[in-house]
Amino acid sequence: MKVLILGVNGFIGSHLVGRILRDTDWEVFGLDLGTNKVEEHLGNPRFHFVEGDVTISKEWIEYHIKKCDVVLPLVAIATPKVYVTDPLRVFELDFEENLRVVRQCVKYKKRVVFPSTSEVYGMCPDAEFDEHESPLVTGPIPMNRWIYSTSKQLLDRVIWAYGFQHGLKFTLFRPFNWMGPKLDSLNTAKEGSSRLVTQFSWNLFNGEPLNLVDGGTARRCFIDVEDAMDGLMAVLRNEGGQADGQIFNIGNPANDYSVREIAEMMIAIWKDHPFRKERGIPEGRMVETGSGEFYGKGYQDVARRTPSIKRMQQTFGFAPKVSMQDSLRKAIDFFVEEHKALEKVVETEN
Ligand code: UDP
Repeated sequence: MKVLILGVNGFIGSHLVGRILRDTDWEVFGLDLGTNKVEEHLGNPRFHFVEGDVTISKEWIEYHIKKCDVVLPLVAIATPKVYVTDPLRVFELDFEENLRVVRQCVKYKKRVVFPSTSEVYGMCPDAEFDEHESPLVTGPIPMNRWIYSTSKQLLDRVIWAYGFQHGLKFTLFRPFNWMGPKLDSLNTAKEGSSRLVTQFSWNLFNGEPLNLVDGGTARRCFIDVEDAMDGLMAVLRNEGGQADGQIFNIGNPANDYSVREIAEMMIAIWKDHPFRKERGIPEGRMVETGSGEFYGKGYQDVARRTPSIKRMQQTFGFAPKVSMQDSLRKAIDFFVEEHKALEKVVETEN
């Protein structure tokens, strides 16, 4: 099978290409702006990488859609800080660029596996979010945060409609707070625009307090990226066509924690971490911050977000295993190594 991954150097793309090369005989064609997360695979003869920008490399993309069997348009901005500060860029990249790709999949009759998002459920009141039953609840227009959710939701609907009216073969998958190595980067955390675990890691390494936005009462269910990859690979394998025309939540309802609890767990791991002790970096601490101050006007939080994974369980026997503690430990160890590498770059530049 030939797989086209647009945005292969992102968090999901980089883990996915690793899994594909390790577990299958498939070929991967990948496009991205950089290579830092896929460096280790560049020498693999089944990985064909091209450095480029999806907004510019249009001919390359169309040619490869024609050539491949399945297309994953993974290019997107997926960090809440940017939804608030640059909503138009989110719309243009996440919606407009991907719509073009989806239309070419229709034209060339190619299967598309599209990353929807748990954000589409927004402030849904259901205890567990169900792909076919739960309402999708977003906030008022002045709240920029919802541009990501609604851009993704509209594309979900467009893909569904292309399936309904033109026979497009598709699967929508919805990541629920996937976490692990390579989630964002410490450079984005430096600007304060990273997702939770990366942001907190940066704060800990720099002796800064962890910001509990609005008291840290918001809850999320986190899934280790390795568990998430088991789910995504089952979707991609699509044995017996079971994933066709389907929507799947991929998350771990067992790892349900508040932001404050995550901060406490990370502070406890950090307290005993050899890197902290070696460098004499202070132990972690927390401060409460208002969301207006942290994200700016236009932010509205999701109080809780729990997936129903019934469909993944029934279809593929999906069963996430990694505990929050183990996942956090692994992520922190990874970011420590990234931190050391960044320090070396700064030393060389000086
Ligand atoms: N958050 C926080 N401090 C930070 C970063 C995030 O309290 O330094 C909170 C944020 O307000 C939200 C949760 O952590 O309630 C998860 O945020 P994330 O950016 O990981 O993405 P989301 O799950 O909202 O898409």
